[in-house]
Amino acid sequence: MADPRSEQALNLQIHLTAITNPYEAIEEDSYAWVIEGKSCEGYSSSKTWSVLRPRAEEVSWHRSVWFKGAIPRNAFNMWIANLDRLPTKTRLANWGVNINPICDLCNTNQESRDHLFLTCDYALYIWNAVSRRLSLPGLRFQNWMELIAWTKTKNIRSPTTLRKLVAEAVIYALWKQRNNVVHNQVHIPPSVLFKDIDRELKNSITARSIKKSFKSLMARWLRRNCFFCDPS
Ligand SMILES: [Zn+2]
Repeated sequence: MADPRSEQALNLQIHLTAITNPYEAIEEDSYAWVIEGKSCEGYSSSKTWSVLRPRAEEVSWHRSVWFKGAIPRNAFNMWIANLDRLPTKTRLANWGVNINPICDLCNTNQESRDHLFLTCDYALYIWNAVSRRLSLPGLRFQNWMELIAWTKTKNIRSPTTLRKLVAEAVIYALWKQRNNVVHNQVHIPPSVLFKDIDRELKNSITARSIKKSFKSLMARWLRRNCFFCDPS
């Protein structure tokens, strides 16, 4: 037997040399896979992974970001935005980058996460359009927590799945448009951006229509008060 390289290896050697060899005549060899004191029926990779992986405390926002039927690209962007890790101009300036921190969508306020996605006039146009589509009073989020709280509530016309789907699509579209202005100097009016969001939502809902939580969403998303209130 090789020289033990650790205290554990040494203890194992001591244990192995101290036990008597099993005899086939007494009992046939068998093995058991034991996880947290419980013997499993055979090997289970999922149970083993669950025990080995590091676990963090459950966070209150995870269902608002990750949910069945989410568009992966939008959910990932929402996750980064929720952690306030997107490289907004305010964050870049805080890192010491020599940059004008004014928002390119309104040219008025500093570009922070909450301004860009919630309180910028450009974003407000989009949220107003969403409000009309969901037959809700004008949506006004003062901060990120209010948006997350909105995705957790529901009413008969806008279930949580629709709210989360819409919120993630809006945040992704606004971030994409912000990058289009900053990097490519391509400006489009918010009405055109809302049409893109609308199209993506219709396509996503159609593609997921066999899922139980998506069955009634198309009718709810298409609901309009009247043509004159919402001619889009
Ligand atoms: Zn702005």
